[in-house]
Amino acid sequence: MMKTKLLISACLCGKNTKYNGGNNLLSRLSEIEEKFELYYICPEVMGGLTTPRDPSENRGELVFSNKGKDVTKEFNLGAQKALKIALDNDIHLALLKESSPSCGSHKIYDGTFSGIKISGQGVAAKLLKEHKIKIFSEEEIDLLLSEK
Ligand code: SF4
Repeated sequence: MMKTKLLISACLCGKNTKYNGGNNLLSRLSEIEEKFELYYICPEVMGGLTTPRDPSENRGELVFSNKGKDVTKEFNLGAQKALKIALDNDIHLALLKESSPSCGSHKIYDGTFSGIKISGQGVAAKLLKEHKIKIFSEEEIDLLLSEK
């Protein structure tokens, strides 16, 4: 049987693409792999940022590092590249890391680097959603697994 295609945050698969050089490996990755054909994305790395890198937070349409550097251009480029992978491969579902300034689909940090979360979406998640890609976070794995 053909597996459904799934765009997935690379860090959720154990790739060390996080800003601090680590990852967010999912304990349930094998369940995901069983059902889906995975297409890894890391919009921040794809946008040209290094790993490790300074953490960034969204401020409206813009993104800044904790040192005050405007990294909006890199975040937008990475989001465009992630979208291209989805469109080129006819992918309609994504599993993205919650609260990331790129991948967060329900929550993001408030831009003050004080650990406060607000409702909102990261740059890549927002662009993918605008193109009708259905996004799940790692807190919604049961929902994702129930997708046809
Ligand atoms: S940009 Fe997304 S995939 Fe890359 S490290 Fe951050 S949360 Fe993970």
